[in-house]
Amino acid sequence: MSNKTLAVCAVILLAFVLILPGCKKEEPIEEPVDSTAVVDSLEMLAKLEMVQGMCICKDCPSWVECGEKGGYCHEMIGKSECITEKKGCVCPDCPVTKEMGLKYGYYCIDGSHKEIDAKMIEEAATEDEPEESS
Ligand code: SF4
Ligand code: SF4
Repeated sequence: MSNKTLAVCAVILLAFVLILPGCKKEEPIEEPVDSTAVVDSLEMLAKLEMVQGMCICKDCPSWVECGEKGGYCHEMIGKSECITEKKGCVCPDCPVTKEMGLKYGYYCIDGSHKEIDAKMIEEAATEDEPEESS
């Protein structure tokens, strides 16, 4: 066998070694199910049902009837699509406020309790930042 033939054979062999693994059919990767996330989501949904069941937003002067179910304090709801004017808020009288230890109101306009909490913490952190000395 000539050197040229040997070189051609070597190139073909090398090509097989490099290309064949790439042609191998890939096994589908199964994502592991995050059971904690599933339980958290179910708990959140159950809490939302409880919150909307107890919600008294419909008795509020700011309420606008547009097919919403209230429960704006819940993190899965937050701001209303149709309530835009602050005409009073009955959240402090709502049993959910006591049950869940809520601190604010006007969730339909300002966002869920969690969102307002995060905003408050951010604002407090900004106020605590030391001023730059000139
Ligand atoms: S606290 Fe306010 S938004 Fe939350 S359920 Fe009660 S009335 Fe509705
Ligand atoms: S979140 Fe407060 S202001 Fe908004 S509709 Fe409910 S009770 Fe009224």
